Amino acid sequence: MPFHTITYSDQYRRATVHNWGCNFRCRGCTYKLKQNPRPERFLSVDAIRDCLRTLDLDAVHFMGGEPTTNPQLPELLAFCKRGLGVITRLGHTNGSGLITEDLDAANVSFKAVDDYLHREYTGCSVLPSLDNFCRVYDAGLAMKASTVFIPDFGGLEQVRKVAAFVGGIDRGIPFHVLGYIPVPDAPWRRPTDDEMARAVATARQYVGTVTFSHFTTEQAKDLSQRDERFAVRQVL
Ligand code: SF4
Repeated sequence: MPFHTITYSDQYRRATVHNWGCNFRCRGCTYKLKQNPRPERFLSVDAIRDCLRTLDLDAVHFMGGEPTTNPQLPELLAFCKRGLGVITRLGHTNGSGLITEDLDAANVSFKAVDDYLHREYTGCSVLPSLDNFCRVYDAGLAMKASTVFIPDFGGLEQVRKVAAFVGGIDRGIPFHVLGYIPVPDAPWRRPTDDEMARAVATARQYVGTVTFSHFTTEQAKDLSQRDERFAVRQVL
């Protein structure tokens, strides 16, 4: 039962169901910034359903670790889509296990496009994620994409390649560049402001809408103070 928390955004009328566990082992994973990352308890499907029924909802997001590794996900997607009639979205996914049934949208984070770099960073091949992204786009899901910019690992070239891959499918897919946030046991530094500007400009050559974030390690520990999308309250 690796879903462990439900949060709610009053502004967006959106619940987010948070998962624990991921099939990747990213060297720069920001979960390393949490002191006690393992949740104290996990939620049953019945408890999640009961909680969601009480909320005023337009959408339910699933994220945290890699939500598609969670065997409860299809059952909950079906409940949200067919039972509640709301928009369903993977708020953050590495793309390795993308599904289409009862899912409206997905936001895929690519760590690199060159497979040897992706394996070095995550421990896994990027090829299933690239294939899945094309497949679910063709199936009609509303897609977003992002990449992490690490100047001394992958650098501008991987930002360029990820943006070119996404823009080659559809220049209209919203794209986000996340400036690398230093985490324990990883050797890399944070990008400078000038480097971030170059990364964003590089991505804009390939995709029409590019946003970015450039947090310090301290800022990343409490994003609710930085970004209204993270201003949520825990409801379960
Ligand atoms: S895919 Fe995301 S959650 Fe999983 S290890 Fe990588 S950064 Fe962390």
